[in-house]
Amino acid sequence: MTSRDYTIATLGSHCALQLLKGAKDEGLSTLLVCEKKRLNLYKRFRFIDEIFVVDNLGEITSNKCLDRLQETNSVLIPHGTLIAYMDSDQIERISIPIFGNKWILRWEADRELKQKLMERSNLLVSKSVESKNDIQGLCIVKLHGAAGGRGYFIAWNRESFERHATKLKEQKLINGEQDLFIQEYVLGVPAFLHFFYSPITNEVELMGVDRRYESSVDGLGRIPAREQLCADLEMSYNVVGNIPIVLRESLLLRAYEMGESFVDTSRNLVPPGMNGPFCLEGVYDKDGNFVTFEFSARIVAGTNLYLSGSPYSDLVYPEPMSMGRRIAREVVIAKEKNMIDKITS
Ligand code: AMP
Repeated sequence: MTSRDYTIATLGSHCALQLLKGAKDEGLSTLLVCEKKRLNLYKRFRFIDEIFVVDNLGEITSNKCLDRLQETNSVLIPHGTLIAYMDSDQIERISIPIFGNKWILRWEADRELKQKLMERSNLLVSKSVESKNDIQGLCIVKLHGAAGGRGYFIAWNRESFERHATKLKEQKLINGEQDLFIQEYVLGVPAFLHFFYSPITNEVELMGVDRRYESSVDGLGRIPAREQLCADLEMSYNVVGNIPIVLRESLLLRAYEMGESFVDTSRNLVPPGMNGPFCLEGVYDKDGNFVTFEFSARIVAGTNLYLSGSPYSDLVYPEPMSMGRRIAREVVIAKEKNMIDKITS
């Protein structure tokens, strides 16, 4: 790459507004790859310098789009929508620099690799259940891929698993039971810990914590138990928004340790490791232990809460520091130090 200024580029969805606002706050140019149907949203924001219009976000891999990203000296910031639109092979083939380590996105997408990385990182992990015949306690059953919680269900034995799986098949959400992943259900409160690791400073920063607001499971408490039992309610964990959380201060030390342990392990398993933003996703159980059930190896949408900084970023930065702005700052610092290759892949 040249020593020209960089452009921060991303796909128009998920956390694009936060990312491009943060980039502009750091003095960088911004480019959005945007579907025609969403233009009416994104054209409102003056911090977006250029909108590259496409019919479908899959066109990010077209020569025309890649050429424009190259001409503008863009660093592409991956988020959940990129993962939803492209498989790991396609992402790894993208020729323009991607912020962070694109190879670790495969470990996020593949359930087995994901479980391995969490378990090797000295985290308490919600165990996967091999087969429906092994279901003993309460389990959560998930669809493969970045489904955003849609179609997830609870099972407690083989019959309850099969009943729900059949419904999902009828709704064409899955082809068959092989598309489902069974995991032990952890009782407690869900929390999503947003971290940023800089390979330049070698520090893990806790940038914020959120919980998701999910439909329809978060509406269940509005229906009395008797009616719940009578009605044949269909549950789902479809994310519709995010709610901020501030952790008890006594939980913070362990949160940082978990982030650091994850970074250390990923360095060995998926070189160069977990660079940039990531999220540990789990449940605080009744003893205050964090049991991890997932991770995201890139920025999560829950960081949108903290566009003006969070209770944790405020402890470190004098200015409002969103995750998007922190990413842009890393690009600025890397450019100054001639280390852009260390923070992109
Ligand atoms: P995910 O898409 O895996 O992040 O999960 C979506 C939602 O399902 C989370 O926000 C939690 O509410 C819930 N969830 C996922 N895994 C578990 C688990 N092992 N135990 C309890 N709840 C879970």
